[in-house]
Formats: sequence, C-alpha cells, structure tokens
Amino acid sequence: MTATAEGTNAGGATAPVVEMVGLRKSFGDREVLKGIDLTVTPGEVVCIIGPSGSGKSTLLRCVNQLEEATGGTVTVLGTEITDPDVDIDAVRQRVGMVFQQFNLFTHQTVLENCTVAQRKVLRRSKAEAEEVAMRNLAHVGLADRAPAHPSHLSGGQQQRVAIARALSMDPQLMLFDEPTSALDPELVGDVLSVMRALAERGMTMLVVTHEMAFAREVADRVVFMDDGQIVEQGAPAQVIGAPQHERTQAFLERVL
Ligand code: ADP
Ligand code: MG
Repeated sequence: MTATAEGTNAGGATAPVVEMVGLRKSFGDREVLKGIDLTVTPGEVVCIIGPSGSGKSTLLRCVNQLEEATGGTVTVLGTEITDPDVDIDAVRQRVGMVFQQFNLFTHQTVLENCTVAQRKVLRRSKAEAEEVAMRNLAHVGLADRAPAHPSHLSGGQQQRVAIARALSMDPQLMLFDEPTSALDPELVGDVLSVMRALAERGMTMLVVTHEMAFAREVADRVVFMDDGQIVEQGAPAQVIGAPQHERTQAFLERVL
C-alpha cells in the first residue's frame, strides 16, 4: 500500500495509520500476541484495555519495533515495518511514545529535554528547536518551567514534559503506555486533560490505559485484550457500557 505523510492515498481515500494483520509475538516458547488484527485510521483515538499480562504493552511496542514481531505484518504510516529491509528509524521519527515511567533526562533542563532529539534527529537549529519546544510546553501548561530540572517537577508535570518532548518531533501518531499509572491520584487529571486536548486537535492516538472514564469520553474505539488476543472492540459505550463477552464483563467488574 502507498500512502502520503498525511495518511491519504492518491485517490483521496483514508489510509490507515496503523494496520496489524495476524500479528504474533513470542518470547521463547511463550506466545503473548496470538494473531492481532487492528487498524487505526487518521485522527482516531483507540484505547486498549485489559488485564495485566494480556499483551497490551507488547502490542504497543510492536508499532515502533521496540519488540520485533514473530509473525504477521505491521504497517505504520504506509511502511511495512515487519519487512526485514525497513528503515525503522524513519518510521520511529514520526511516532511519539510516552511510557508509564517518564524517562526524562535528569541532567538536562525541561527545555533541553524537548530540543535534543529535534536537533540531533531532525537537524533543527537551536532557535527553531526551542521555538517548537516552547510551543509544545505551552500546550501542556508548562512553558514557565522550561529552565527547571525534571527533579524539581511533580510526576504529573514530568509526564506532561514527556508528552511535550514527544510532540516536539511533530509525530503523526502518538503511543501512550499507561501514562498515568505511576502518578499520585491527584496528578492524574492534568495529564489526562493534556491527552484529551491532543485528541481534540486531531492527533492519532493509541493509548493503553486503566482510566475507564478517559476511555469512555475520549476514545473513538475501545479494544479489550485478554491472553494475547482482542476479545472485543467497538465504541466505548458498547465495550465499556454494554460488553458482550464474559471476559470483558469480568474485567470491567474488577476495575470499575
Ligand atoms: P500488559 O502490558 O498487558 O501487562 P505485556 O505486554 O507487558 O502485558 O506482557 C505480556 C506477557 O509477555 C506477560 O506474560 C509478560 O511477562 C511477557 N513478556 C513481556 N515482555 C517480555 C520479555 N521481554 N521477555 C519475556 N516475556 C515478556
Ligand atoms: Mg503493560
């Protein structure tokens, strides 16, 4: 399939941002993804929910080849990344990822955290990188903390910096792996607000989360995973509000 950077093909039809077909992943003889078919279209917000150990992080990590698939295909922004000859760095540049642990560079300021990859990878000038960084720090409500070191920020602020850092690379897809799970409860709301605003601005997002209220309000689609498989997916009102499968019902009873 051919697709332009905007995710549309020559005919104007919408090409998927992510397309997984029969994705399998094993660690040794343990298969943790057992044939995943999943498509994310431009501007879509897809939330993945499911029990611990069901394969959610592994699935997300297969989108930028932090894990290598052992079967099936994964196509990201028109490039089949499961092709052994792929230039994975070219794809990774266009995909932002935010983890549970914020992974900021502790010896750098907030501003430096948000400019270093722009300068190294995108070869932007210092002035341009700082302008982009400041714009994204403003989006997450932290422009005034640009000179600070991460250790002087709360966990919620650090996670918002991690989001601004990812956005400063102008990604066409954002991956979030339980971005609020390591935060004190009172800090969760600000991070979710930033993510909600990002969704409203049209960012394509694949979000692993345990925040059911967020998934319900912000997701276009909710995917429930269990034991390496997608058990059911659909609109949030359907999957969270009226789950069809016993395993989805049992999971939601535990978390809601
Ligand atoms: P989730 O994010 O849904 O909690 P994961 O994708 O992290 O699930 O893990 C799915 C399964 O794969 C778990 O049983 C986990 O122990 C196993 N797993 C994940 N990463 C590795 C690894 N690098 N080596 C071996 N097993 C792993
Ligand atoms: Mg996980």
